[in-house]
Amino acid sequence: MDRLLDDSIAILDELIAFPTVSADSNLGMVAHLAQRLSDAGARIELSHDDGGTKANLFASLGPEADGGVVLSGHTDVVPVGGQPWTGDPFAMAARDGRLYGRGTCDMKGFIAAAVALLPQLDGDRLRRPLHFAFTYDEEVGCLGARQLVEHLRARGLRPAAAIIGEPTGMRVVEGHKGCHEYTTLFTGREGHGSVPERGVNAVEMAVRYVHRLLALRDELIASAPEGSRFAPPWTTVNVGRMAGGTAHNVIAGEAAVDWEMRPVRAEDARHVRDALEAYCAQVLLPAMRAVAPEARIETRVIGEVAGLEPADDNLARRLVSELTGQDGAELVPFSTEAGLFQSLGTHCVVCGPGEIAQAHKPDEFVEIAQLARCCRMLEGLAVNLT
Ligand SMILES: [Zn+2]
Repeated sequence: MDRLLDDSIAILDELIAFPTVSADSNLGMVAHLAQRLSDAGARIELSHDDGGTKANLFASLGPEADGGVVLSGHTDVVPVGGQPWTGDPFAMAARDGRLYGRGTCDMKGFIAAAVALLPQLDGDRLRRPLHFAFTYDEEVGCLGARQLVEHLRARGLRPAAAIIGEPTGMRVVEGHKGCHEYTTLFTGREGHGSVPERGVNAVEMAVRYVHRLLALRDELIASAPEGSRFAPPWTTVNVGRMAGGTAHNVIAGEAAVDWEMRPVRAEDARHVRDALEAYCAQVLLPAMRAVAPEARIETRVIGEVAGLEPADDNLARRLVSELTGQDGAELVPFSTEAGLFQSLGTHCVVCGPGEIAQAHKPDEFVEIAQLARCCRMLEGLAVNLT
């Protein structure tokens, strides 16, 4: 009876069989999706990573014009190692109204439904373009989406709205914090603990760095944006791990600090980075290099996922609220690729089948009823664009 849902389930079964764990290639799945899209008359663009083993798939139907809507999903999934799965994570199983398998919920269910919609779309009859953006390496820092968004920016292509189909239980989500993770490494000079002034103590420098970071944290708490609906309402800072030194009586030669911040707005993240850089350049490094010219401080970016800032004027929220019959929109504590699309000027919401509670877990599943709701939304979108 429900053709689109049946097709979505059949396609999801095919997609789950591609073990697209972030560390591995996604090219098999991308080729499979590209075939279906080009059969439906879509224009296809692939952009590969540096190693050539992963690719983004960007496909477009309808007029070659600005505006239109993007359906966005990531092709990669998190690993299954060490998790107690009941069955093969890469062979979809249906039981009790649920579809089990790695990626069913996060987020191949949405991709399957988007691709299943193709037979209902006639590119010649679309008034506005419909784009499909399927990316790699979302789970390890949105690397694919970053490349894809830069590619769109370079081409001057700015879709009007994007639906990021991460699992929200089909609720409309209009905001989430960013997630920036860093490791800061301090290299001093070792020496005997009895003559601290002859060395450069990396642990001491790390402690001073963290002290500055905590002062910035207090500033951020005091300057939470007015009316912020996030919990807590400000940009948070967390120092997750500190390590360094070797023994009581040795000047610590090396130290490392793992820390993160979750910005509620992009300028907070810039402010923290700039302030720390200035503190290192003007205070810590001169002190270190006065004793040891080889002393260094290096900050490695582990991931910088932009937040999705809620906006009063949000075309995507209006569209998806109407399509799904919902009032209002929520904020969520997890991050997605939406912030990257927002940086293009595209209006974004996150809305997709399945619950985030099932993501990344053993026996991950999506409810068939959720997938059905996603199908209704996409059917409505097809009508809206025609
Ligand atoms: Zn995801």
